[in-house]
Amino acid sequence: MADETTPVAVAPAPTPAPAKPAEKAKVVAPAYRDYPNIPALKIDSMADSNPYVAAAVHNESVGFPGTLVEGWEQKAVAKMGELLGKYRSLRVYMDACVHCGACTDKCHYFIGTGDPKNMPVARQDLMRSVYRRYYTLPGKLFPKLVGARDMTKDVLDDWFRYYNQCSECRRCSVFCPYGIDTAEVTMAAKEIMHSVGLGHKYVNEIIGKVHKIGNNLGLPGPALENTLEGLEEDVLEDTGAAVKYPLDQKGAEVLLVTPSADFFAEPHVDSLIGYGKVFHAAGISWTLSSKASEAGNFGMFIGNYEQMKKIAMRVREAALELGVKRIVVGECGHAWRVAYAFWNTLTGIGAGADDPFAIQLQKQLDPNYKQPSHICEVTWDLIQAGRLKFNKEANDHRIITFHDSCNVARGSRMGDYAGGQFDIPRNIIRAVANHYVDMSEATTREKTFCCGGGGGLLTDELLDLRVKGALPRMEALNRIVQDNGVNFMATICAICKAQFTKVLPYYGFKMSMVGGVHQLVSTAIVLDNEQ
Ligand code: SF4
Ligand code: SF4
Repeated sequence: MADETTPVAVAPAPTPAPAKPAEKAKVVAPAYRDYPNIPALKIDSMADSNPYVAAAVHNESVGFPGTLVEGWEQKAVAKMGELLGKYRSLRVYMDACVHCGACTDKCHYFIGTGDPKNMPVARQDLMRSVYRRYYTLPGKLFPKLVGARDMTKDVLDDWFRYYNQCSECRRCSVFCPYGIDTAEVTMAAKEIMHSVGLGHKYVNEIIGKVHKIGNNLGLPGPALENTLEGLEEDVLEDTGAAVKYPLDQKGAEVLLVTPSADFFAEPHVDSLIGYGKVFHAAGISWTLSSKASEAGNFGMFIGNYEQMKKIAMRVREAALELGVKRIVVGECGHAWRVAYAFWNTLTGIGAGADDPFAIQLQKQLDPNYKQPSHICEVTWDLIQAGRLKFNKEANDHRIITFHDSCNVARGSRMGDYAGGQFDIPRNIIRAVANHYVDMSEATTREKTFCCGGGGGLLTDELLDLRVKGALPRMEALNRIVQDNGVNFMATICAICKAQFTKVLPYYGFKMSMVGGVHQLVSTAIVLDNEQ
């Protein structure tokens, strides 16, 4: 069943720009669709798309078996049983699907690839067929009759392939009449695979770096300090204002935890510059932390609660050591989801955990503020209170649209009402710029399409999948580029920024047309010396 509001592209897909890397010769953007049609089925077209398998050293560094363990079949089935007992929702999802088909054409990876195994229902069935075999009576007695399958190496290989073609974006769940969340099934499958020694190299390597060095990029404390000093000099030169980017400042009011990409990558760093300007203009003391120098939490991508907790704990330890009153999260989609939905029980930031350190932290944090807060909530509150001034004309060279990031849109909220996560970033953009246009309603807010690189898939060996998965977002973007002359797509997610920077050229757009909301704030904000 087609989604009748899927946007119609107004221009033909551009010929991919000629470029040097060999990868570009192989990876080609799919053509824009003329109508909101269901893609023609291309059976097994993505059967060769696999992420690299983690080496033993990477698996072991995060506590998983190095390689596929002996008797992995029974162990995987037992792990599934454990998860079915632990997460009631998983069992409901295994039982509740009526194969109505409402979700089939809602996944960007199916739209972009046509591979039927990328239909959300088919992705779930990879696990459901094994569940039926071992955890239902008909599956035990008449496996063939009910589509039940043994846990075999072929099945495991299919899991590794196709659960690593799901960005855990949750779009399909919006359209499922039973609210079945494929992302949760994917996370469970990844947890099972990791538990028997089949790990994802990119994700495990990054988690290892966070434990060893403190952030996804492996940026050590001294390098961080140098970078921040450099930023202070740049901002002073640009604006004449002595904006500070403090590190490990004890007694600061705010601890800002932001994705490590903000420290050096373009366009991410422009948002970090913007956060600093906001705190400076509002007279709020703040600090970054070398211990918690990463907001991202890849533990969520592999569904592993222990890793999520271990990664999140760095934030609590930093907050206690620095004695801050508020914890604010920078522009990162999945980090905000983890902070908003899990930090309370993982760490006691907010409320939830009840160990002595959690209680100490709850007493330390200022109850007048939401703990944690998103940087957009902070900025919007200050704008409403009249504490920030802007020269909106400074953004007049931009015609701006906003891409809702999945984990913010469907995994969390902002402000104090449902939908605040959609309105607040848009309100900020309208407060700092004169030209704003929304993309098609079928592709924004809770129906937003994933950028194509979420869920731990932002790795070069999956570039073909990432380019194809970006198709629906690129179609919607292309439409307003053609109709309204949009030349800037703002987003509040480090993964979206990195993914779009990479895939926009495949669709004929400039990589520089993506950036952060606080990049726009940074352009327009009036600092005291400039008034
Ligand atoms: S969660 Fe997102 S990526 Fe995964 S199947 Fe659903 S729509 Fe596709
Ligand atoms: S929409 Fe829900 S019930 Fe229907 S096929 Fe998809 S997952 Fe199953």
